[in-house]
Amino acid sequence: TGVSDIARRGPVRAPRGSERTAKSWGAEAAKRMLMNNLDPEVAEHPEDLVVYGGTGRAARSWEAYDAIIRTLDELEPDETLLVQSGKPVGVFRTHEWAPRVLIANSNLVGDWATWPEFRRLEELGLTMYGQMTAGSWIYIGTQGILQGTYETFAAVARSLGETEAGSGSEAGSRSEAREDLAGTLTLTAGAGGMGGAQPLAVTMNGGAVLIVDVDETRLARRVAHGYLDEYTTDLDGAVARVSAARAAGEALSVGVVGNAAEIFPELLRRHRAGELHIDVVTDQTSAHDPLAYLPLGVSVQEWKEAAASDPAGFTDRARASMAAHVEAMVGFQDAGAAVFDYGNSIRREAELGGYDRAFAFPGFVPAYIRPLFAEGRGPFRWVALSGDPEDIAKTDRAVAELFPEDAALRRWLEKAGSTVHFEGLPARICWLGYKERHLAGLRFNEMVASGELSGPIVIGRDHLDAGSVASPYRETEAMADGSDAIADWPLLNALLNTASGASWVSIHHGGGVGIGRSIHAGQVTVADGTPLAAEKLERVLTNDPGTGVMRHVDAGYERAREVARDRGLNIPMREE
Ligand code: NAD
Repeated sequence: TGVSDIARRGPVRAPRGSERTAKSWGAEAAKRMLMNNLDPEVAEHPEDLVVYGGTGRAARSWEAYDAIIRTLDELEPDETLLVQSGKPVGVFRTHEWAPRVLIANSNLVGDWATWPEFRRLEELGLTMYGQMTAGSWIYIGTQGILQGTYETFAAVARSLGETEAGSGSEAGSRSEAREDLAGTLTLTAGAGGMGGAQPLAVTMNGGAVLIVDVDETRLARRVAHGYLDEYTTDLDGAVARVSAARAAGEALSVGVVGNAAEIFPELLRRHRAGELHIDVVTDQTSAHDPLAYLPLGVSVQEWKEAAASDPAGFTDRARASMAAHVEAMVGFQDAGAAVFDYGNSIRREAELGGYDRAFAFPGFVPAYIRPLFAEGRGPFRWVALSGDPEDIAKTDRAVAELFPEDAALRRWLEKAGSTVHFEGLPARICWLGYKERHLAGLRFNEMVASGELSGPIVIGRDHLDAGSVASPYRETEAMADGSDAIADWPLLNALLNTASGASWVSIHHGGGVGIGRSIHAGQVTVADGTPLAAEKLERVLTNDPGTGVMRHVDAGYERAREVARDRGLNIPMREE
């Protein structure tokens, strides 16, 4: 029915411009962002209301979608619409500071929180999978993964700088203030939907990168889309190209067709023999699903058939290959490279494949992202409701001017301005911290008020943020105090954002890592140029990242304690 529905109604596209049909900008913004999530430029399968991430939906059904749109247009500025897993279920009188929409998606009681039970209830029409920003109406397309990957590699660069400085070597003193990857070579694998952002994220940080993929079509696609500079089937040629770029301090990405389980050990041999030097190693093959990882000895052509005819046997072979792949990664770490798992569970799969040192290297969150989270730094995104790309160009310049000392931020904004192709409404994402985000929000609101921008700006974020997620396999892996699975934090985050004046607030379960494995919350707040919006923005954009600092102070992170003390966050039981 989805396809016929979309055929009848035509593709969904959010209205643009500074005239609204809803009675408040809060309701108008929620309506436009719901519609934008289902724009064919943004959504993967708009006919099924699927935005991204498997089956992450924006609304439960087309009937529910129509009812949400209708209700938002009629909603009074002192009313609040409640949405239960993509279905509008009630409108209540609240007040002007209250959110216009409150959303709860995919939540289940603990003992029932399994995929089979979720799918049974979904089949009955009682729930939907909201992912993180699909069901909370603030997805902005592939720019999000590119920026997150960029931010990770920027953090890798800073940590290489610290190691070099710490070593006291001449090279170290030269690059004490290292903020980019110039003069380094990164080795990775997996140029798929998400992993394909890696080569561009490394070159945006100034580094050289070699990316391995078994499937030539994946590499060709990344080259066609400007995410990869070139690719080859010739390993020697690829090594020569990236080694020359490393030596010259140039940014270059080269793809090589091959199996990582074979190429990683071969490159480790050459690294040990001094034939090339690799500084950073990671991987984003689809290791989380052994049937989506190609074992040695199977060709790309045989892949589907081999996996379908004998899934158990294929799984064993894939895990054995992952063991070889991860053993080489550990070898690189032993040889001095920075090595990390990029959220694809390859360490666990390699362990199941019989390699017992798989967890010798860390996951990317504990290694690189957690220090940012401790400062309340996380994804901050905004969308121009005018539809005018010039509004984003102006806000890019405003953010760069607000934080002139942040080199990685400036580099990102410049490169994103020239490389990122907008999908749906023009949008931007960058990472900002506690006592930074509200400065950007207030500046945008002034620009709307003065007429410098041609319409209101919507400001939100991913649920993957400092204080808004509990997810023991990803964002809260290996917390210092063992509090990985404590889910009170995202709930407090959502309650506080509701109390602080956000335009819509959401509480979800299962996004990113699946049912039973995460609880997370989102907020979106509108800058419509009014003094009331300024007051709300100041509170929400201070308090929201503030919960990230609070959560990391509570878990015992020293950096979070410093930030709380220096930036004036009141933590009743903080130890001095
Ligand atoms: P994808 O399936 O689109 O791409 C995977 C790629 O790996 C394919 O191009 C495939 O050809 C290649 N591949 C498979 N086996 C290989 C082998 N043996 N050697 C070389 N290449 C091989 O997946 P994706 O969306 O790009 O995601 C990749 C992985 O990263 C997933 O496991 C995903 O869960 C994870 N991921 C993690 C994060 C995070 O936590 N930051 C974010 C996004 C994705």
